[in-house]
Amino acid sequence: MADGTFATAINCMDGRVQQPVINFLRRNYDVDYVDMITEAGPDGLIASGSALIENIRNRVAISVEKHGSSVILIAGHCYCAGNPVSDDEHKEHIRRSVEAVRSWGYPADVIGAWIGEDWKVEIIVEE
Ligand SMILES: [Zn+2]
Repeated sequence: MADGTFATAINCMDGRVQQPVINFLRRNYDVDYVDMITEAGPDGLIASGSALIENIRNRVAISVEKHGSSVILIAGHCYCAGNPVSDDEHKEHIRRSVEAVRSWGYPADVIGAWIGEDWKVEIIVEE
């Protein structure tokens, strides 16, 4: 079993959004570690039903079932090269991604976050 407490993040591969998401989850959810599942623009991938979803889901399963993560955060961010859509479209993709991940039925809260041009994490879909 894993020592310490874990959260899960489905985040962009973009180097600018790693530390903000880790810091946010450690600070607000009192966890020791963040399992980071990265893709290029994951909010767009999940919202559009990409074939990569199964691989993302397998990694979420490890984080929740083996590490005991109790919160899954899905993030989208501005200036995203992997999902180059408007901020409003990102927020819609994030909402749809949260619904999709909730439908997987893992025993964890699923929340959605937007990271704007100040690189701060803002929750837009609550538990
Ligand atoms: Zn991105």
